[in-house]
Amino acid sequence: MIVMKFGGTSVEDAVAIRRLIEIVKRERHRQPLVVVSACAGVTNELLRAAQTVRGGDKSKALQTLKGIKARHKQIASDLLSGDLLNSVNDKIDELIQELQNFVQGVYLLGELTPRSIDSFASFGEQLSSLIIHAAMNHNGLDAELVDARNVMQTDNAFASALPKMELVTEKAKEIILPHIASNKVVVTQGFIGATEDGITTTIGRGGSDLSASIFGSVLDAEEIQIWTDVDGMMSADPRIIPEAHLIDVMSFAEASELAYFGAKVLHPRTILPAVEKKIPVRVLNSKSPEVRGTLIVYDIPKEMSASGEVIKSIAFKKGITVINVNSSRMLMAHGFLAKLFSIFEEFQKSVDVVATSEVSVSLTVDSEEQLQEILLELQKIGDVQIKQQKAIVCVVGEGMRNAKGTGARIFGALGKAEVNIEMVSEGASEINLTLVVDEHDVAKAVRSLHDEFFGNRN
Ligand code: ADP
Ligand code: ASP
Ligand code: MG
Repeated sequence: MIVMKFGGTSVEDAVAIRRLIEIVKRERHRQPLVVVSACAGVTNELLRAAQTVRGGDKSKALQTLKGIKARHKQIASDLLSGDLLNSVNDKIDELIQELQNFVQGVYLLGELTPRSIDSFASFGEQLSSLIIHAAMNHNGLDAELVDARNVMQTDNAFASALPKMELVTEKAKEIILPHIASNKVVVTQGFIGATEDGITTTIGRGGSDLSASIFGSVLDAEEIQIWTDVDGMMSADPRIIPEAHLIDVMSFAEASELAYFGAKVLHPRTILPAVEKKIPVRVLNSKSPEVRGTLIVYDIPKEMSASGEVIKSIAFKKGITVINVNSSRMLMAHGFLAKLFSIFEEFQKSVDVVATSEVSVSLTVDSEEQLQEILLELQKIGDVQIKQQKAIVCVVGEGMRNAKGTGARIFGALGKAEVNIEMVSEGASEINLTLVVDEHDVAKAVRSLHDEFFGNRN
């Protein structure tokens, strides 16, 4: 079997869903499990409605729900007719009614808990999967809808719940496999899950990729396909570098560095479950399904690796805060770094980039959540300074391991572009070099690096 995940823009309207159906039909013989996102923008709208009613504006929140309902009804009526359309419309009404009840609840209590935020967010995938499943059956695909919440069992860390792999494996085998065995196309939702006692959770923004990868891993899929709105993994975000080129093949290590450091095309944790089972991941464009996309594999076969290629891609992540801790007395003393990191551990805050010198440690975090509390703790062990509105730029490629002078080329290009480098760190894997720059220099930095390494490619 294979897993096919369709992101928000790949299910955004009736035209996109028709394309999806054609794509699934072509893969029909490979026993697909289809994992779908919410229609583009809907998750954001749902979260906005939740915040709006918490702020006391119930009628504006209900207005947003009305828009969501109209959009889904439009898609349904473009795709369906007769009894099937009626029954889908009834179910849309039910889901919207449930959402309205949530709005009413938040309004009355004046409180929006992480648990209810996840409930709100889950409706995007519930609505899209409902329509896609019906449209498949309407178009000659024998499809079965599985509620992901019966399979994707997670802990209760709302907004970024952790799947419990053993339980997910058990449930997937029990609930999904029999349908696959009877030759049905199974449709389920990405992003959402539930605790063991049935409370709805979500596994993090952009998490449908991760859902796909987890389902693929527990069901031993032969391939995981991520269908999106670009041709595959590109040499840089095409929104910044329009002439960025498609990468044919990359290793799991390269892809996870890129995803982790900002290439939004894949959720950062997506690769892990696939790595464990060495399941190839393919990133494909639902708007141009004939394009071969990017294949992500454990080891790149010799004949597929481009000789002489140094770097594969450049990613960036904005909204970074740099924390400098100076401690001339203690830095070299043993236990200092352990103490330092235990503070981040205590607040469950992940650190992206670290650089140390004789007297100071610099590290970066990607959100301001609990920053003040962390700073207070850090001040107990040294002088602390922070710099905000920074960005990480990450250059990735297995070829960097062997190429001499890559660092010089990177610094030369950035120097010429007058980009000030705040921090540098090279991963132990030697396949990435990570730089911290000012947020407003990001486009210039990515542009100059792309020109340096790929400028004369065409
Ligand atoms: P989906 O809704 O299908 O999950 P996303 O919007 O999450 O799609 O991810 C696709 C987007 O990722 C692209 O539109 C592109 O702008 C962005 N992106 C960032 N870096 C890269 C990269 N290196 N290669 C391809 N796309 C990238
Ligand atoms: N719909 C969710 C989001 O927008 C999950 C996803 O699309 O991957 O974050
Ligand atoms: Mg995504």
